[in-house]
Amino acid sequence: MNRRIFTMSALASVFGAGRATAAKGPFEVTRTDAEWRTMLTPLQYNVMREEGTERAGSSPLDKVYDAGVYHCRGCDQALYSSEHKYDSGTGWPSFFDVLPNAIETMEDRRLFTVRTECHCDRCGSHLGHIFNDGPAPTGLRHCLIGVSLVFRAA
Ligand SMILES: [Zn+2]
Repeated sequence: MNRRIFTMSALASVFGAGRATAAKGPFEVTRTDAEWRTMLTPLQYNVMREEGTERAGSSPLDKVYDAGVYHCRGCDQALYSSEHKYDSGTGWPSFFDVLPNAIETMEDRRLFTVRTECHCDRCGSHLGHIFNDGPAPTGLRHCLIGVSLVFRAA
């Protein structure tokens, strides 16, 4: 495991703990906090509604390269295509591009630095972060948290 990423991840879990900083909206799909807690596991809730993360390498989707589409677990919106997925070596599912009209972004200042957070533009669920060290043609790395996603094979 990449040590820098492990450290960032550990810091994220420390600094992100208990801080509900979910995107504000308004969103097309809205649910009460109780509804979210009912439909999500505690890990999914922490990631999607409190901007938590998952342990690197823990998502089965990290190693999936079948043709298909990755949907938002919170509202089923289609977010990412397998055509844009690549192995970043980080242990998180990574994409160099996103489907049109799928996500919104905002600044995340929790880690002594400014990162670009991304969330579903239909329900506001946190998906991951976007970095500038991805492959061509976009040069972007959408670093996603697997529990936020549902994969549907084509
Ligand atoms: Zn959604």
